[in-house]
Amino acid sequence: MNVKTHHTNRNVVLIAGGAGFLGSHLCEVYLNKGWDVICLDNFHTGTKANVAYLLSHPKFELVRHDIVNPYHAEVDLIFNFACPASPPHYQSNPIKTMKTSVIGTMNLLGLAKRVGARYCQASTSEIYGDPLEHPQTEGYWGNVNPIGIRSCYDEGKRAAETLCMDYHRMHEVDIRLIRIFNTYGPRMDPSDGRVVSNFIVQALQGKDITIYGDGSQTRSFCFVDDLVRGIVAFCDQNKAIGPMNLGNDEEFTVKELAELVLNKIGGKSKIVYKPLPSDDPKLRRPNLNVARDVIGYEPSVTLDQGLDKAIQYFQKVLKPS
Ligand code: NAD
Ligand code: UDP
Repeated sequence: MNVKTHHTNRNVVLIAGGAGFLGSHLCEVYLNKGWDVICLDNFHTGTKANVAYLLSHPKFELVRHDIVNPYHAEVDLIFNFACPASPPHYQSNPIKTMKTSVIGTMNLLGLAKRVGARYCQASTSEIYGDPLEHPQTEGYWGNVNPIGIRSCYDEGKRAAETLCMDYHRMHEVDIRLIRIFNTYGPRMDPSDGRVVSNFIVQALQGKDITIYGDGSQTRSFCFVDDLVRGIVAFCDQNKAIGPMNLGNDEEFTVKELAELVLNKIGGKSKIVYKPLPSDDPKLRRPNLNVARDVIGYEPSVTLDQGLDKAIQYFQKVLKPS
């Protein structure tokens, strides 16, 4: 597919979901690159605290806005990272999750079309569902339940990918489509509900470590710095529009993760087993050949190293002031 190169002089970036975990890292990177950054967020799962230290930066603007409603600004680059990513959060209001994924994406693609901006979509490994191909390549179409409790997110993100491709084919919007695999690190909300934050917070607080199911399901965990480096490199290049998997291709069972966290933190926590939520994918590992080929991507932080950094962060945020 041809890739258009509209931009010779890009310098204003709109980051929707910029007050969230990943979005806040993108805000920081683009300010450091000298760009003007407009951070849009409805603060559903993100917080002002995530970007508090950027508020005094002359090139940073924080706007409370819900992407389900149209937004207009003259920008050169748009990141759509606005959507709750943690299962408990996206399932708490599934209709809103679908609206954010579909109407929100349509609004931001419409803006990209009007102002000629490059548009980068945070898609997800969830579009592969409970995969029948392992590891997952971008060519795999997935195995997704359309009517289950995860569908609002999985199908919402699949529809968002469809919209990106149709805006690209119909209106030549200059898209970049990134399928992000489980990522963790500083600025995750301690009560976010995803597995890495749950296990670390539980261990630090001496609470039981809650494994859902028997813990044999697998995930591949990427430290945030590796992911953000990959996102920026992909959005900066003109060879490919995606979709492109991004993450870390080392694979662990959830039980191995629990044991690793317990070994590092010690304390009195013990592992307890809770029911596995329905449609929980049994296996997940990215095939990263496209990322390796297009941007020379190689994850550099092992789970062992990344967990140490994440533990340090959670120790700091949980410390009573
Ligand atoms: P997050 O929940 O920390 O961040 C999402 C941000 O979007 C929050 O600040 C939230 O307040 C904001 N938001 C939600 N709905 C909105 C709306 N309607 N209008 C405006 N803002 C809204 O999650 P994250 O991990 O930073 O994820 C960011 C993006 O990356 C999401 O699109 C997610 O689907 C995708 N993603 C993340 C992962 C991961 O492992 N972190 C994996 C796959 C995909
Ligand atoms: N999980 C778990 N205990 C927790 C939270 C999650 O065992 O306290 C499991 C969950 O069932 C899934 C895996 O860990 O199999 C990853 O869950 P997460 O919510 O982080 O992301 P997912 O990849 O499922 O979207």
